[in-house]
Amino acid sequence: MKKPLVALLSGAGVSTDSGIPDYRGPNGLWRTDPEAEKLVTYEYYMGDPEIRRRSWRMRRDNRTLNARPNAAHLAVAELERSGVPVRVITQNVDGLHQLAGMPARKVVELHGTARSVVCTACHARTPMEDALARVDAGEDDPPCLACGGVLKSATVMFGERLDPADHRERRAHPVRRAGRRGRPGADRHRAAGTAAQGRRRGRLSGRTGRGPGRRAGPSVAG
Ligand SMILES: [Zn+2]
Repeated sequence: MKKPLVALLSGAGVSTDSGIPDYRGPNGLWRTDPEAEKLVTYEYYMGDPEIRRRSWRMRRDNRTLNARPNAAHLAVAELERSGVPVRVITQNVDGLHQLAGMPARKVVELHGTARSVVCTACHARTPMEDALARVDAGEDDPPCLACGGVLKSATVMFGERLDPADHRERRAHPVRRAGRRGRPGADRHRAAGTAAQGRRRGRLSGRTGRGPGRRAGPSVAG
């Protein structure tokens, strides 16, 4: 008999033991500091070079990339290695499941990854480490080396429109419907920090619309 697929939903709590704060929890930075929230809001980021400079400094200083997988990440990877078909659906952007040994193709990163940067003009993806090295070397808002466009973390920011290719990938995934409320057939939708939620085009907000004050957002800064 075929082994059942085990789908694990992985949230911020999984990474707190690796020293990564829950930015989006009740006391998280994104919910308590509107200025910090701007650093991860697409409209502000794209429109204000000073916000970008602060955002790069924040990423450089957080050093999320130095975090190591903890016992939870290792246990999940071990389960997969033992022959159990495992898929991880994570809100975390730290890449620690993959670092622990989970094959990347079996990890769906709902909020993207902080380990890469993407050019907002030509969509080239490059390692975050390279961008942070440029920041360390004195470029306070490093542009894309290929086209000069604005670079951003490959995480999903508040108010960001998702890449249609990414969206198709999620729709094609066998566990794609976990938590998803989007409109089937829509080629694009906006994200309120989570790719799992459909957004009406034209709205730009960090609120999810599921009650006053409720927010979803990128779960980690770095
Ligand atoms: Zn570019």
